[in-house]
Amino acid sequence: MPTYERPLLFIDDQWVPPADNGLIDVVDPATETVIGHVPAGGAADVDAAVAAARRAFDPTIGVAERRERLHRVIDALEKRLPDIAELITAEMGAPVRIAQTVQTQVPLAVAKGIAEVVDTFDFEERIGNSLVLREPYGVVAAITPWNYPLYQVVAKVVPAIAAGCTVVLKPSNDAPLSVFEFVEACQDAGLPPGVLNVVSGPGRVIGERLATHPDVDFVSFTGSTEVGARVGELAGRSVTKVALELGGKSANVILDGADLATAVKVGVGNAFLNGGQTCMAWTRMVVPQSRYSEALDLVESAVGRYTVGDPWDPATRIGPSASRSQFDTVRGYIERAQRDGARLLVGGAEPVRDVGFFLAPTVFADVDPASELGQEEVFGPVLAVIPYTDHDDALRIANATPYGLSGAVWAADDDTAIAFARGVQTGQLDINGGAYNPLAPFGGYKKSGIGRELGRFGFEEYLQTKSLQLKERR
Ligand code: NAP
Repeated sequence: MPTYERPLLFIDDQWVPPADNGLIDVVDPATETVIGHVPAGGAADVDAAVAAARRAFDPTIGVAERRERLHRVIDALEKRLPDIAELITAEMGAPVRIAQTVQTQVPLAVAKGIAEVVDTFDFEERIGNSLVLREPYGVVAAITPWNYPLYQVVAKVVPAIAAGCTVVLKPSNDAPLSVFEFVEACQDAGLPPGVLNVVSGPGRVIGERLATHPDVDFVSFTGSTEVGARVGELAGRSVTKVALELGGKSANVILDGADLATAVKVGVGNAFLNGGQTCMAWTRMVVPQSRYSEALDLVESAVGRYTVGDPWDPATRIGPSASRSQFDTVRGYIERAQRDGARLLVGGAEPVRDVGFFLAPTVFADVDPASELGQEEVFGPVLAVIPYTDHDDALRIANATPYGLSGAVWAADDDTAIAFARGVQTGQLDINGGAYNPLAPFGGYKKSGIGRELGRFGFEEYLQTKSLQLKERR
């Protein structure tokens, strides 16, 4: 049974109270009750954690030791997954089916993917008369959001440790309990003191202290574009490396000739996964005008399968929004979309239950690509359907937002879909339903971010490169 009371920070291999002893409430979004607490750390706690991480950092760490640490962390993580899944349902309302699969099995696959990369990675190579060394970057500040709390942490901490870096982790206040469970797993793994530290607390205090700290070498941030820009600005002042994984407004482009029924069914499932609280969600469905009414009928019948309700019920597909503020934000977007002239096909802004932050899966048709709903990330169960006239129009719509994180293309054949995909300004696209690949680089074009996570590309973010020019070729 996992514990919901986590009053201590983890610094230098010790569980310690925060300097000012404050606590943050963790609220169950399905019941609106306080289910636990985490520490409200402050700047002094960040300084202690960064100092511990600096002491633990050894730039000459051997490859065998890096691999050893990584494999121990993966084994310890695997043992804790059932408890972590339970905490994720409790703290952010992910339906148990999602918590036990996507929320926990995907991070495990991501961690194992990093292990696969590291097991065969060349940390040294010869280029002419140079010996090129790949060394750990240093002290990493990892700042993460609440939507996939374990995944976000694993995607940073695991490659960082595998690279030989040390880490100070700042989890989201809205879903911190599962992260503390992960940190305890890392303690079970016997990492040396200071290799991993966790400081929870207000983002504006903890996150900004980390971003400006002179002893942090790399800030890896996942969250909103607005906060990411602030983190980048602060880190830039001291020429600290940043990686930013930010928002998205991805397009699911269905070209004429595609299998419309499959493309719509998969597209609706993607848009509503985790209640739409997924950065890579395909929140715009771009369909040919010639098949528009057929597509809308298919969307409507697909949405009927997305039951909203108690996240502990295995039949539930959409739980509550993760917090009151997210719930209010999503409702605001729905109300304004109606005022902007989009046609509400199903759902709406009315809460589904009196208690808890439950909203119905909502679909708008006739969405103007330039409207707020066509442009901005909602981060809730809201899908915008947009018709197009021809392929040029579809491409223009796909690229007409400030974001470029993900998306999909469906066509009669893969060559047509791939040719279209080459023109889309985005970091990742599924072609005719291609499966998720935890080794493929993931990250944003445009305002969706800087840098890549996962697999070899994600791992290399945590390495510095040093060239030694040798006098003689050896
Ligand atoms: P957020 O508000 O930007 O917060 C992200 C993290 O930053 C949290 O830990 C937050 O702490 C912290 N933070 C807040 N203010 C800060 C500041 N001034 N300086 C430094 N850190 C600060 O994002 P969110 O609401 O948690 O997550 C949703 C967003 O994340 C969406 O936009 C989504 O698209 C994006 N996201 C992107 C990806 C990707 O891979 N591209 C993946 C998932 C989510 P507090 O908890 O204390 O506020």
